[in-house]
Amino acid sequence: MMACRVCLKPVGGKPKTEGFHDACLRRLLGTAVLPPLEQITRQSLLKQGRERMRSGKRFSISGVQIKFTAKVNKGELLLGEQGGDLILKPDAKPDEFPGLPANEHVSMLIAKHMGLEVPACGLLPLADGSLLYVIRRFDRNKDGTAVHQEDLMQALSIANTTDAKYEACSYERAGNAVRTACGRGQAAVEFMKRLVAMFAIGNGDYHLKNISLIRPMDKPVSLTPLYDVVNTQVYDDVHRLAMDVMEEDELEAFSIHGFETRADFLQLARALGVSEKAVSNFIDRKVLNQLPDIQQLISNSYLDRSLKPQYLEIIEQHFRCLAM
Ligand SMILES: [Zn+2]
Repeated sequence: MMACRVCLKPVGGKPKTEGFHDACLRRLLGTAVLPPLEQITRQSLLKQGRERMRSGKRFSISGVQIKFTAKVNKGELLLGEQGGDLILKPDAKPDEFPGLPANEHVSMLIAKHMGLEVPACGLLPLADGSLLYVIRRFDRNKDGTAVHQEDLMQALSIANTTDAKYEACSYERAGNAVRTACGRGQAAVEFMKRLVAMFAIGNGDYHLKNISLIRPMDKPVSLTPLYDVVNTQVYDDVHRLAMDVMEEDELEAFSIHGFETRADFLQLARALGVSEKAVSNFIDRKVLNQLPDIQQLISNSYLDRSLKPQYLEIIEQHFRCLAM
């Protein structure tokens, strides 16, 4: 049985579009009938977005990913629309980063399974056999106008120079900035949970530009939902974490083991004034205990058969570190 390209659960019965639950596709695109995609190919998308490609010495998936805004209007998928409520990411570099759309999709669903806030996302099958990753934008009001948001580079007024998003500050300083901007300790708890989850998932690219604050007109500042979640370790990323954990202090357990364990995250929690118990409970209940469900998600995912064991092995390895 085919897994739904939105929720990765089996699709039974007679859905309006093959490979999607009606409700899932509606949540993603606003319609249960998939718009015609014959005109859209990976090559045509890449051609349109090529000038964005840039190589940096650090491993940066966001640097190679080409994004388009889009919206569905009268049953058609329109690219590059003003006020588009969707973001599309084609399979930009299948040789270097095979299965990136499927990787991002399953990684986002794993984060969601860990109880984190994730926008609706899914995979659209293109006529050339490639998959197009689609995610709903969270920075748009219902009327299509922009909600003010800024990433932590902007929030901390850090100049956007090469590698600044990795090297300009630590997770400790980033977490403190989130707490200060949001004006409440709960935001720091959320920040901690996300960092643990990104480590668990093998996302070594969780840098300052991938952490953003949203400032809706009538609500307090908060973290945006998660985005750009990818298991970068399957592509031989040498960084398990994109940034230093502590601003100045030594990471105590790390200096003994040579790799991150639960104690290192608890040290950061203490520095941020976050309850160690809250972080430890999250690790046990929402991360480690969820391994069987996460295995199922990976197994149902649209990752290449050869990538699935690798993806799972990385997760299991990181779970063992968090169990220590
Ligand atoms: Zn579904």
